[in-house]
Amino acid sequence: MPKKTTTRKATATRKKSSPATPAGTSAKPETRLAEYRRKRDFSRTAEPEGGPTRTAHFPAFVVQKHAARNLHYDLRLEHDGVMKSWAVPKGPSMDPSVKRLAMEVEDHPIEYNEFEGTIPQGEYGGGTVMVWDRGNYAYGGSNPDPEQGIRQGIKKGDFKFVRNGKRLKGSWALVRMRPDKSGKPQWLLIKHQDEYAIPGSDVATEHQTSVATGRSMEEIAGGRSRVWHSNRTGQKTATQPPAARKPAARTTGG
Ligand code: MN
Repeated sequence: MPKKTTTRKATATRKKSSPATPAGTSAKPETRLAEYRRKRDFSRTAEPEGGPTRTAHFPAFVVQKHAARNLHYDLRLEHDGVMKSWAVPKGPSMDPSVKRLAMEVEDHPIEYNEFEGTIPQGEYGGGTVMVWDRGNYAYGGSNPDPEQGIRQGIKKGDFKFVRNGKRLKGSWALVRMRPDKSGKPQWLLIKHQDEYAIPGSDVATEHQTSVATGRSMEEIAGGRSRVWHSNRTGQKTATQPPAARKPAARTTGG
């Protein structure tokens, strides 16, 4: 009998003892969101858990300003059913001479693009999140298949993309560098020279409000609509907003 080799066809009939698909570009979104979900308690944070995925003709991008332990801007690009994500400490720059560090972080669900609010202190990423910019993007490289172009670019550590956001427009590059001490991949986010480039600009500090709601970080932090805790007796009931919770429920279970 011929020896079985690992082929594309074989993956469909893979035995249970075979190793799981690694969390790479070929893994299903459900698998690729495992780390995102492991870090979060969705009964305590209003962040989305992420459900079935959808595909879009024009993939989305979002930049969320995140006042966690350290202020940073999370750049997320829709790809293969998830949001590929980078934490950019200084935020994007429209100045082509400025290279901004972008630390690759775990894939996020596409629904995260809608998230603006407060992650409870003590939870993963605790702090305030603002939708700082959003829109669609297009692959900017030479591969005739844009999906494949992005996939290969992420693998290779070098790709171009063109944003059509409210604040961020035009052509950009993400280029991977050496991993940091913790082994996490570090990239550089660079604006290309084009009609949208603004030498000497500091777009991140020029815009202090949400493109989704117009709120400042302080207003988001002070808002009571998007953050709720489970009650402190240890019962996890908080997937509903406070208004829907009965005051001082006397349940003893949980
Ligand atoms: Mn973040």
